[in-house]
Amino acid sequence: MNKSEVNSDAPMSSTSSLIPPPSSLKNPSSLVFVDSHAHVDGEEFDVDRDGVLERARAAGVRTILNVGTGDPRGGNFERAIALAEKHEDVYAAVGVHPHDAKLFDDDAAAHLMKLLKSGGRVVALGEIGLDYHYDHSPRDTQREVFARQLRMAREVNLPVIIHSREADEETVEVIRAEESASGGGRAGVMHCFSGSLAMAEQVLELGFMISFAGNVTFKKAEPLREVARRVPSDRLLIETDCPYMSPVPLRGRRNEPAHVVETARCLAALRGVEAEEIGRLTSANFARFFQIKLPTADIQHFAH
Ligand SMILES: [Zn+2]
Ligand SMILES: [Zn+2]
Repeated sequence: MNKSEVNSDAPMSSTSSLIPPPSSLKNPSSLVFVDSHAHVDGEEFDVDRDGVLERARAAGVRTILNVGTGDPRGGNFERAIALAEKHEDVYAAVGVHPHDAKLFDDDAAAHLMKLLKSGGRVVALGEIGLDYHYDHSPRDTQREVFARQLRMAREVNLPVIIHSREADEETVEVIRAEESASGGGRAGVMHCFSGSLAMAEQVLELGFMISFAGNVTFKKAEPLREVARRVPSDRLLIETDCPYMSPVPLRGRRNEPAHVVETARCLAALRGVEAEEIGRLTSANFARFFQIKLPTADIQHFAH
């Protein structure tokens, strides 16, 4: 669980010292952003997927982590991996979402395991976790399937992408129980973070990255913005979770990876740096955490 990276005495206290000093990065060719969580393989993008990827590149988005969800036997995971195989700036994660936990069984586990071992384009197991807002699967099933996939991630030595909605305490409980039962793994990302400051502190202690999506820009999200001010710079990621969660000022429209820049702008304003700095910093974090070499050399000085 990357314990060496955790300042367990005061996990939230090192923010200001870890933020690189602002510098002028106005040259568009130096723009670097990573969308750490997108669903570009989904049918919402069937009409213009190539155009969406082109717009992302034009906005400076160098890498996209595309997350395959849905029925584990419905072909969605294969579709996500195929997209990553087709585009060298797209990577894939696959895993059974808490909504679909009721579809998980031994067969699905074997199938997922095969895909996780299928090669270098799959860099994480996810998204997995607990969703007590929609409750599309029974809660005890969600917990069981979440724990089981945490164990699978450890077996294949991949990080996890965690979806947690209205389930802060139990999400942390399941992670802790699995960690103490079977030893540390590569931790993971709390995606589309919407939890409390206390939740953030707990997952940082467990070695997790915290990824912010468009909801941090929403008018009523002041408590979430307070969390975003305080997450240490080396634990920060940004994402779109597209086609959902369009950031202000694009709220209500289909979201797409190019819009990750709006979330970077919001975090930049909160932390007193330029959006380009947030882009480079979160790109370096992404590359380091997922052990991916990004196609740009100029972020390397942020990589530890
Ligand atoms: Zn999610
Ligand atoms: Zn998602």
